[in-house]
Amino acid sequence: MPSSRELIKLDAMENPYGWPDEVIAEWLSVLKHVDINRYPDADCISLRENLHSVMQLPSGMDVLLGNGSDDLIQIIAMALAGPGRVFMTPEPGFVMYRQISRIVNLQYQGLPLEPGDFSLERDKTLAAIRQYQPSLVFIACPNNPTGNLFDRETVTTIIQEAPGLVVIDEAYHAFAGDTFMDCLSLFDNLLVLRTLSKSGLAGLRLGYLVGPPAWINELNKIRLPYNINVLTQKSVAFFLDRYDLLVRQAEKICQDREILFRQLQDMDSLTVWPSRANFLLFRCHDRDAASVHEELIQQGILIKNLHGSQPGLDQCLRVTVGTPRENECFVSALSGLL
Ligand SMILES: *Cc1c(COP(=O)(O)O)cnc(C)c1O
Repeated sequence: MPSSRELIKLDAMENPYGWPDEVIAEWLSVLKHVDINRYPDADCISLRENLHSVMQLPSGMDVLLGNGSDDLIQIIAMALAGPGRVFMTPEPGFVMYRQISRIVNLQYQGLPLEPGDFSLERDKTLAAIRQYQPSLVFIACPNNPTGNLFDRETVTTIIQEAPGLVVIDEAYHAFAGDTFMDCLSLFDNLLVLRTLSKSGLAGLRLGYLVGPPAWINELNKIRLPYNINVLTQKSVAFFLDRYDLLVRQAEKICQDREILFRQLQDMDSLTVWPSRANFLLFRCHDRDAASVHEELIQQGILIKNLHGSQPGLDQCLRVTVGTPRENECFVSALSGLL
């Protein structure tokens, strides 16, 4: 079996592109001057201002930074935990929600998505919210692992009807062409969560949570003071100055996603779902997902087997959009197997 370094890695929604050599050289020269013997700025003041302007975040809203957005999910869950409190989220969904709610003793309650298209059915969703009265609702837009965006009006109704906090997780916003950022001023129980991981900086670990100062101040009390290390602070600032490069890479990935989607759609023995993220979910009809997964590894390609991981994902696999060459290798290996 090929070692993981040699594998074409399409399992974790990473950006497959690097940076030009001259940009890397400039970045390394910035890092030369970092005082690693000193503690980082605990409040990340300049990085937060930087994010505010580069990401065009709404004025009047504050930003909380996390060591990846997983860190922020944990901070929010810890803040909202208490006896009998419920954490609700669409299912199938992002696995960390369940794991974190278990760690902090929140009662996890999945909202089953419609089996055909993974949409959120409005009336069922509202009934579940009335029944369980969740303290915390997480909605990933687009959703992972299904890749779809939920109907905007349904999500808005959830925000209105939820008795507690609603967090819209926009981990894939760079590929989605849609956001709830502009709704923050309309609701006092809404926060928007993002990460730079899927855009191309997964190794640096930086997530950011945006919302009204009243919420962000409270959550900041739980955050450990030095959760963003000095190398990440300096490096992210450097890459934000060149953010247009990441935007262009995301555009390329979206174009290649559509090519890959059509190629998978042309295969008779699988169903592929449209995606607004940088990955595609598909279901095998005549083959076991586990054996397809294994045989792809034998051919040097790593994707994600989701069969058995959550309800609603029988015989499903998820592939990250890679470079055109990686996608071609994947398509030809897969069509050979099916
Ligand atoms: C990948 C992902 C995250 C976590 O990203 P970090 O690398 O921890 O910033 C959060 N939410 C969703 C829906 C994801 O898919």
